[in-house]
Amino acid sequence: QAVFQSDIGTLLEQVGTGKESLSFMKRRIRRLAAQWASGARRLQDKLHSRWREQKRILVHVGFLTEESGDVFSPKVLKGGPLGEMVQWADILTALHVLGHEVKISVSLKELHGFLGVPPGRGSCPLTGPLPFDLIYTDYHGLQQMKQHMGLSLRKHKCHIRVIDTFGTEPAYNHEEYATRHGYRTNWGYWNLHSQQYMTMFPHTPDNSFMGFVAEELNETERLFIQRNKVNNMAVVYGKDASMWKLQGKENFLAILNLYMEIHGTVYYETQRPPEVPAFVKNHGLLPQQELQQLLRKAKLFIGFGFPYEGPAPLEAIANGCIFLQPKFNPPHSSLNHEFFRGKPTSRKVSSQHPYAEQHVGRPHVITIDFNNTEEFDAAIREIMRIDVEPFLPYEYTCEGMLERLHAYIQNQDYCSPEVLFPPVNMSWALLGGPFIPLANSRIFAWSSNMSSFSSWPPLSALLLLSSLQGQSCVEACQTEGLICEPALYRFINIKEAFSALDFRCDGVESEMNHLFPAFSAEHAECGLQHDPLLFSCAGSSPKYQRLCPCRDYRKGQVALCKDCL
Ligand code: UDP
Repeated sequence: QAVFQSDIGTLLEQVGTGKESLSFMKRRIRRLAAQWASGARRLQDKLHSRWREQKRILVHVGFLTEESGDVFSPKVLKGGPLGEMVQWADILTALHVLGHEVKISVSLKELHGFLGVPPGRGSCPLTGPLPFDLIYTDYHGLQQMKQHMGLSLRKHKCHIRVIDTFGTEPAYNHEEYATRHGYRTNWGYWNLHSQQYMTMFPHTPDNSFMGFVAEELNETERLFIQRNKVNNMAVVYGKDASMWKLQGKENFLAILNLYMEIHGTVYYETQRPPEVPAFVKNHGLLPQQELQQLLRKAKLFIGFGFPYEGPAPLEAIANGCIFLQPKFNPPHSSLNHEFFRGKPTSRKVSSQHPYAEQHVGRPHVITIDFNNTEEFDAAIREIMRIDVEPFLPYEYTCEGMLERLHAYIQNQDYCSPEVLFPPVNMSWALLGGPFIPLANSRIFAWSSNMSSFSSWPPLSALLLLSSLQGQSCVEACQTEGLICEPALYRFINIKEAFSALDFRCDGVESEMNHLFPAFSAEHAECGLQHDPLLFSCAGSSPKYQRLCPCRDYRKGQVALCKDCL
């Protein structure tokens, strides 16, 4: 049985030394220890001391290994990316606090040791049973495991979870399909279950949302912030000078400078970076804790369009800032933008931080066209005028992250073959099919008389609907205030789902197509999904009305349905 533990001493010992990245993670783990402990207490009360299985977990952080080049560690103190380190520190802490048996590896030598692969045996497969229930790693780590576990990786891959910042869609993950249909990238094609990929933000329901945490405030800190906010103080998002190169930036910085005192935290070695104008008060790269202090005073946190989707805007909002960011029109994606090119997703990024835009929104987040000087000017004046409270979505609190990770660890299972295939041998026809219409809507629930299948999320959460032509299931579920749930596709990939929705099929085909199950009006054809690994919430075509498995979600915790805990 797993027992919550608030002492982080053994975790810190395990994290090791010798790299700036590890020191950064340790500082973070120490700084947030009390916050994790109180999150754990609250979750424990909520779960009423329910029995939780203790898992043996290996965390292999591939991008920090020397073998993958470790480009991150040398840049920790020089303005390089820190989001990944923030997330790994939080994952390690959450697993430890939940009471699992965690081993940490940041080198191939350690990986070999933990997996019991004899040193010097190159790619010899691991012969015995896997000594772990779960392995958290990243794309680099996955590659290393393939090279060093050889054939046995295939056997053990259902135990793997891949921390994947921007996400991987099913069409890119399926090797054969990706190769045949132009979705092949440098990263995808591992043929995992798409929910084995875990993202930084809830980008797409095809992947699991792992997340990270931001600092939480107590009542005294809240009061302090409210009293000490400086209405005309702005902090610019961007710790590397290259992030200040945005075209047209002179215009809006000049406007901002009319109204506010502008602060920056741009790394520099000896002299001020030329990209940062003289009127900006640059503090240089700050330790996380000091950045928080600066954010507590500032009224505005302003993004210039890069970096995409990092932790800092959530930290700013949590400290009572308003986040002002540029809208991207057209949206950035792997089709039109260098940064996303080659990433295994077709997701359209509508602003610098779509989560802040869509899940938080006004008054905490204002997303506008930065080229429109009047709109920009008006936004700054509005920001100085309005009062906002510090805000942190529940899913980014320690309790929220622990709750989500707990639910995944106890319920997600990609090893049993059952998780992929639809229920068979039930005579739906005799019973009129498993779907029953909800009153006054085009949404269908699963009949409770036929819920003897084990599933997580449970079948009680399943709501079937059809998308419009050209609409993805992500969008179709969203328009009903629901979320697409790929784990429930197998239950709607049956002929009876078409009849429930009143689609008259002249023919029913089973094909490999990431848009299936779907209905083609032109040919009155119903297409079932042939390969469960291709079940995908993402993806749309004007030719098809897709069948979508939606579910509800908990307030502030999109990853979990109401009956999921
Ligand atoms: N950060 C910091 N000092 C600074 C600026 C940022 O410690 O001067 C931290 C910040 O607290 C955040 C992390 O850097 O947790 C990553 O922030 P960002 O959103 O910039 O994402 P990245 O591009 O680094 O992944």
